[in-house]
Amino acid sequence: MNSRPSEFSIIKKYFAPFASQGAFEFRDDAAEIIPNEGKSLVITQDAIAEGIHFFSDDPPELIAKKALRVNLSDLAAKGATPKYISLALGLGKTWNEQWVAEFANGLKEDCEAYDIQLTGGDTFGTGAGFVISITALGEVPHDAYVSRLNAKAGDTLFVTGEIGDAALGLLAHERQISGLKNVDNAYLINRYLLPQPRVKAAEIIREFASASMDISDGLIGDLEKLCQASEVGAALKFQNIPFSQATQNAISLESNLSEIALTGGDDYEILFTVAEDKLIKFEDLISGSKIQFTHIGTITIGQGVKVFDRDGQLIEFEKSSYDHSGDSS
Ligand code: ADP
Ligand code: MG
Repeated sequence: MNSRPSEFSIIKKYFAPFASQGAFEFRDDAAEIIPNEGKSLVITQDAIAEGIHFFSDDPPELIAKKALRVNLSDLAAKGATPKYISLALGLGKTWNEQWVAEFANGLKEDCEAYDIQLTGGDTFGTGAGFVISITALGEVPHDAYVSRLNAKAGDTLFVTGEIGDAALGLLAHERQISGLKNVDNAYLINRYLLPQPRVKAAEIIREFASASMDISDGLIGDLEKLCQASEVGAALKFQNIPFSQATQNAISLESNLSEIALTGGDDYEILFTVAEDKLIKFEDLISGSKIQFTHIGTITIGQGVKVFDRDGQLIEFEKSSYDHSGDSS
């Protein structure tokens, strides 16, 4: 399969088989969506680019799933249930039919797994690297959308899952973390390649969170963004931050990896605040939840994020987040 089929035949062969209702198997210009009664639509878009967000030789199935899942993470953080996506597929100079077939297969698998429908998109050559941009639409009941603008001093800060695996996974993908066991290495790399967005947490977020965002550029930097948007500060307890066994093992080999774990990117966990009047009910609920939720700190008056060690001493970081614009500063 080294030939290059036309745009028309790519759409027909690889994407039309999972076209949503109202998209006319992609034989029309657009698609019609009928919103559900009592729901608002939540819309988000994230693009990933070769060489910035994925490597040229990453499997196309995984690239497709990553492009989709980064959007599902944004929707979950808003308390929304994913429903539809639209795909802008920018084919890189080296594309061939095999790449498109594998990409479409990965996307179809995830659309089925997350019960999402493909409404359409656009297909074009970039003349350079691959770029995939997905727009995702989700649903929330009216008035249940959760923004990042509404955290208040005294709210408690929580995070889903475990922090830092993907940032260390990226490092492990580029160079061995010396002395790290193969199983830990594989675990971290997989966490980088294939995000696990917290889609199942959406309902809990919309019921309990006063403010929420997904963590894509590092815990500390993203918490700074939430604090800025809400005009508050935050105090984090380092010893409360949840790390996987693999990340703990890596940090015990190289202690400076803890900073990368807190400030590197690609966690796709949810960072959110719970106001005092909902806290007891929330803590009750999470004690029996399959999803891991961890209390990591408190929202304060003032501004900025402070991280404290076990003895209450302030920990300083060189850099708070990963900047995807390609600059390292
Ligand atoms: P036009 O040039 O009229 O905009 P296109 O050829 O770009 O039409 O698209 C034709 C149809 O195929 C549209 O319904 C569009 O949404 C869909 N489409 C194009 N590319 C993709 C893609 N990569 N994935 C899914 N649908 C696509
Ligand atoms: Mg078009």
